[in-house]
Amino acid sequence: MLVKYCFFLSLFISTDAFVIFSQNLNSEIHVNCDTTSYKLNEYVDSLSRYEIQMGKKKNLHTDDERLKLAFYVALSHYPELHHKKISLKLKSIKSTMQAQPSPSFIVKRKNKRGYSIFVNNNPALTGLNYEELSFNGLVGWIGHEFAHLIDYSSMNNRELLGFITAYIFDKRTMRRTERNADRETIKRGLGTQLLDGVAFFEKNKKVSKRYRKRKQKNYLSEEEIIVDIKRNCH
Ligand SMILES: [Zn+2]
Repeated sequence: MLVKYCFFLSLFISTDAFVIFSQNLNSEIHVNCDTTSYKLNEYVDSLSRYEIQMGKKKNLHTDDERLKLAFYVALSHYPELHHKKISLKLKSIKSTMQAQPSPSFIVKRKNKRGYSIFVNNNPALTGLNYEELSFNGLVGWIGHEFAHLIDYSSMNNRELLGFITAYIFDKRTMRRTERNADRETIKRGLGTQLLDGVAFFEKNKKVSKRYRKRKQKNYLSEEEIIVDIKRNCH
């Protein structure tokens, strides 16, 4: 059975990233709130402070300081994840990022479960290089992955296995899951970051047709993101 589950998991590691939106629309519609824009130069000295605050059980397998900082800035929006075991790894995958429970979750208690976020380091597979994303967009992109972890961490092992199976075999589950992750990202105050990432995706002519189509099918539209940002304005 374990082999079978691992097979499912390996399949599961294939669909994540973002929504496709019109960059023009993004610039035409004024969003009255949630205007924070994270700039790398304002955080460049913050890594050690973040590691003290949130670094427990976090393993960031990269030398990319910008990526590490984006990870922690996004994580600061998800306090429930601060004590969870989370690793970040660069890997050759067919999307920009993916979030998943560590495969050993099957034999572990829910509270001992670890999670992984993979970041694609082989742009040839998607046409998109995460290093070209703005810092703000990178924070939004990682924030979407953390929204998945919130979802996974609410499930017991049986529910998680059922969910993974459904995600792989049922397109509606995939779409619902991705759209909900976008909504959660916006609720956490990372709506404009999400839009930034999407605008980058949209304007990037190198993105493969297949990848673009997959994103358009499964994620919130730009209009929907803006509506959600406004809905969460206070
Ligand atoms: Zn996702």
